[in-house]
Amino acid sequence: MLDACLFMEETSRGLAPIGGYATTLIVAGATQRFGTEAQKEEILGGIASGSVEAIAMTEPEAGSDVGALSCKAERVDGGYVLNGQKVFCSNAHISDHVLVVCRTTRSEDKHAGMTMIWVPREVDGMEVIPIETMGGRETNHLYFTDCVAREEDVLGVVDQGWMQLMAGLNVERLILAATMLGIAQRALDDLLLYVKERRQFDRPIGSFQALQHRIADLATDLQAARLMTHWVASLVDEDPDRMLPQQASMVKLFVTEVTKRVTLEGMQMMGGYGYSSEYDMERLVRTSLVSTIYGGTSEIQRTIIAKTLGL
Ligand SMILES: Cc1cc2nc3c(=O)[nH]c(=O)nc-3n(C[C@H](O)[C@H](O)[C@H](O)COP(=O)(O)OP(=O)(O)OC[C@H]3O[C@@H](n4cnc5c(N)ncnc54)[C@H](O)[C@@H]3O)c2cc1C
Repeated sequence: MLDACLFMEETSRGLAPIGGYATTLIVAGATQRFGTEAQKEEILGGIASGSVEAIAMTEPEAGSDVGALSCKAERVDGGYVLNGQKVFCSNAHISDHVLVVCRTTRSEDKHAGMTMIWVPREVDGMEVIPIETMGGRETNHLYFTDCVAREEDVLGVVDQGWMQLMAGLNVERLILAATMLGIAQRALDDLLLYVKERRQFDRPIGSFQALQHRIADLATDLQAARLMTHWVASLVDEDPDRMLPQQASMVKLFVTEVTKRVTLEGMQMMGGYGYSSEYDMERLVRTSLVSTIYGGTSEIQRTIIAKTLGL
């Protein structure tokens, strides 16, 4: 996991166009943990040769409250029939499959009765419609109308989807943190170059203490974020099966909030040029803003951390 974090940090710092990597890695983790040998061969083999994978949990009425999801998969002879919709499914438009978290059973416990089912992107009965966002077209609506999935396309155990999702939390939150760490480092690097070059009042703007102190704080926060990411990654490497709800939420919360601060401050300290698309800073701002929303909002991470503290 530490290697994967370093890889993600460096590729996002270099703005390498591999946006599909995060959802692919999340699906790869779930396949590794719960897949049959045939599924591993197909999905992991595909990923190894460059394919992208997507995962769909969120629905219009089930965002932070994933347990409220209602897109249903009904048992039929030889498989399942899916009906319902998903929203914000990142990379579905470029993926080989979508791993859909469906409702297979309704019971008192809303977290029971979910099942993960693979659907090939080109399957009949699934419509993929892009959503326009400030980040461009990276995420999609999915509409399922009598979409047929084979029995062998169930990942893991029927009705145990929630438990399977929880098992992937460490990895999912670390991936998001490491990606944002690279964005924050890029913003700081760009900011430093700019404030050393840009002159106002006959001096480089980086010589003004009003900017220096803020940049020093950002660099300090960024270093703390990096240490935290590497620390949680090394805990996962020590025991990949151990659940780390507190640490995983802390690292996702802290790193994404730091990144948002670094990019917004970067824009402010670059003045009008930070806002203009002549520089990358405005793009880094857009990328960082959503990071405190997806993968569980900052509010939800705080709620989880509070729970682990017995509150
Ligand atoms: C660009 C993008 C990509 C995404 N990619 C994917 C993907 O690939 N797959 C996928 O399944 N999902 C994806 N999502 C969905 C994402 O995980 C959800 O948007 C997120 O979990 C929040 O859900 P919501 O948008 O419905 O907001 P809501 O849950 O409606 O929340 C709205 C506000 O209320 C707050 N809130 C809600 N409940 C509580 C509470 N109990 N306590 C305190 N505050 C609360 C939230 O923190 C937030 O500020 C993506 C989203 C975006 C924007």
